[in-house]
Amino acid sequence: MATPKREKKGGGRDKKPDKVEVKECPECGSKCLVRDYDKAEIFCADCGLVIAENIVDMGPEWRAFDSEQMSRRARVGAPLTYRIHDKGLSTLTNWGSTAQGGGQYKLKKWQQRTHIANTSERSFIFALSEIDRMASALKLPVNIREAASMLYRKAMSKHLIRGRSIEGITSAILYITCRQYGVPRTLEEIREVSRVGQKEISRAYRFLLRELDIKISPASPIDFVPRFCSMLGLSGDIRAKAIEIIKKASEKELTNGRGPIGIAAAAIYIAAILNGEHRTQKDVSDVTGVTEVTIRNRYKELSEQLDIEVLL
Ligand SMILES: [Zn+2]
Repeated sequence: MATPKREKKGGGRDKKPDKVEVKECPECGSKCLVRDYDKAEIFCADCGLVIAENIVDMGPEWRAFDSEQMSRRARVGAPLTYRIHDKGLSTLTNWGSTAQGGGQYKLKKWQQRTHIANTSERSFIFALSEIDRMASALKLPVNIREAASMLYRKAMSKHLIRGRSIEGITSAILYITCRQYGVPRTLEEIREVSRVGQKEISRAYRFLLRELDIKISPASPIDFVPRFCSMLGLSGDIRAKAIEIIKKASEKELTNGRGPIGIAAAAIYIAAILNGEHRTQKDVSDVTGVTEVTIRNRYKELSEQLDIEVLL
């Protein structure tokens, strides 16, 4: 049996900018993908997942990105993971310099070993505190925090953490756990409480799904409605109306190839107007993290296809 010839990848030079063939978001099924050649990435306009990076070339961008991240974080003044590691290191170095002669090598070895143990223990403690911090900022129940901590432990036992940013991993883990427990948070919401950006969270998310073989079914737009409505200060009537719109839309298969968050945002936008409690597209965008353009497009599609007359 002939094996299909595979094109060898890796020779960065031969890579063409458009090599990455992504048609829809693996996360939410949206077909609204944005190719940002400046940042060399493809991201989903609906859920914000960065689907592909380095679509032009691997290499310097990584470093550029990392240093940019670092300076951004430095500006914000967020605590950095390596601060903890540094602390351990410098302590050890001081010890090393006071040790004498032949004993020094042995001592150093021992210190290195202790350092490794300390580092992973400390990073674990740091990870748990990160999960806790973000979970309480997001007002997540205790069982989700526990599940997230368990998942982190699992990732750690599979050696998936080493060399990666704990902030990115913990953010992605929280995102995954919320989905698994049916209380999805948007990537944007996670990013707001995270110390890292969307790209790094997306990267950790894709990595963890792959390495831990986690399958998550796409979130339903309905899952987002109650929270978004209460964040927008909208009544229960509007919530019910929005859910009704979503159900009709999905019966007519209008939700296919559309991200659930965008659908939820548009349905809420329409429902609010119908109930005389108008919220602007910007209001809805601020809460949902969906761009105003997407809200506008979805809202037009839904109102036209469902024959809803929206009077502004
Ligand atoms: Zn998406």
